[in-house]
Amino acid sequence: MPKSESSINPFETAKRQVDIVADMLGINGGVREILKHPKRELTVNFPVRLDDGSSRVFTGHRVQYNMARGPCKGGIRYHPQVTLDEVRALAAWMTWKCATVNIPYGGAKGGVICDPKHMSTGELERLTRRFASEISSIIGPEIDIPAPDVYTDSQTMAWIMDTYSMQKGYSVPGVVTGKPISLGGSEGRGEATGRGCAYVVREAAKDVGVRVKGGTVAVQGFGNAGSVAANILYDEQGAKIVAVSDSKGGIYKADGFNPHAVEEHKKKTGSVVGFPGAKAISNEDVLETKADILIPAALENQITAKNADRISAKIIGEAANGPTVPEADEILFQKKVVVLPDILANAGGVTVSYFEWAQDIQGYYWPLAEVNQRLEQVMVRSYGDVHKVATERKVHHRTAAYVVAIQRVVDAMRIRGIYP
Ligand code: NAD
Repeated sequence: MPKSESSINPFETAKRQVDIVADMLGINGGVREILKHPKRELTVNFPVRLDDGSSRVFTGHRVQYNMARGPCKGGIRYHPQVTLDEVRALAAWMTWKCATVNIPYGGAKGGVICDPKHMSTGELERLTRRFASEISSIIGPEIDIPAPDVYTDSQTMAWIMDTYSMQKGYSVPGVVTGKPISLGGSEGRGEATGRGCAYVVREAAKDVGVRVKGGTVAVQGFGNAGSVAANILYDEQGAKIVAVSDSKGGIYKADGFNPHAVEEHKKKTGSVVGFPGAKAISNEDVLETKADILIPAALENQITAKNADRISAKIIGEAANGPTVPEADEILFQKKVVVLPDILANAGGVTVSYFEWAQDIQGYYWPLAEVNQRLEQVMVRSYGDVHKVATERKVHHRTAAYVVAIQRVVDAMRIRGIYP
């Protein structure tokens, strides 16, 4: 992340976004204030026994931003740079993401300040179980359902599920999502983010007049979300994947790659770089590649005022969180590039997490085809909701998604009223 951007307080940014949309919607007074405050925050300091016999105190946060529309949903990240304001901002964004795709959740986020790369599996298990225990009074299938995020995974979720279940005295699979299938995870969760992104790109292409079949696609970040989006655009929609990259660099081929073969190459060598027959390009080049569709699926702040003008894509599907800075949004809007914002384009992940929870609490599991069909319905409907507002209000799709989301949260708050 560039220095100037890393020093911006993310919660200030999140609140500014609320103000902009509240101005547009005429939301003022107490309602606006609620939208700019997390409902509940829990900070815990807790000891963990380390492998050398000593113990250390760790600090963790869980923030439940807004639960007007249902239980809170959001990941838990393990990272040395976790701050309370970052967790607050991420919890706010989860609130808007769940509302954009109209799943019955509020938003939450959690984080533990730690360096997981320098901890053993045993230490991570003890940290996870103690943190889960410390926050157990405010999580649960009807209150707040955590999920994996940066440096946490399905194993972490299994430990949280087990710890919570031990406290209750019975198994509670619906307390977390992103679990292994053997523990009540959902079919299709692993590829849901990339798949959902491919669906909204397909829908936008119809409105923009871009042909996906035979059209060209560049993908920055060939990881979970990026590689799945590429595979689906290639397999199911007939697109040509002409450029992809990972942290080691990028590759280009004018007549397109078979993304499955690139995936195999990455599995074997650790990178897409060096794929036979491809031209080596830089990560910056991937963004500026001549392509109809661009999928940023790596890091935040990649599309900036410096390169936005050089982007040739007509559609950008934000599989990553926060890849486009606000100044770039304006430039792209003027250039008539449709940016499908993260809270819409990568919401396939939380949508299938919602399906996982729904399956867990019913104790009835769906086959993959049913999961994908329901995901497609949600993504197509949500794209339509956002595109309608973008067209009617003549705003870019990011603003439109915030309008849709914040209006839904406000409607729920208003109809419930203020207690008592
Ligand atoms: P991942 O770790 O599987 O993949 C990330 C990829 O980006 C890797 O291939 C990595 O090599 C590459 N990368 C790292 N630095 C890069 C750089 N400077 N330039 C180009 N590529 C670079 O992670 P993921 O789960 O696919 O997540 C990617 C993005 O999608 C993140 O922003 C994440 O927050 C977002 N996202 C993911 C999910 C999900 O369900 N996986 C859901 C919502 C949002």
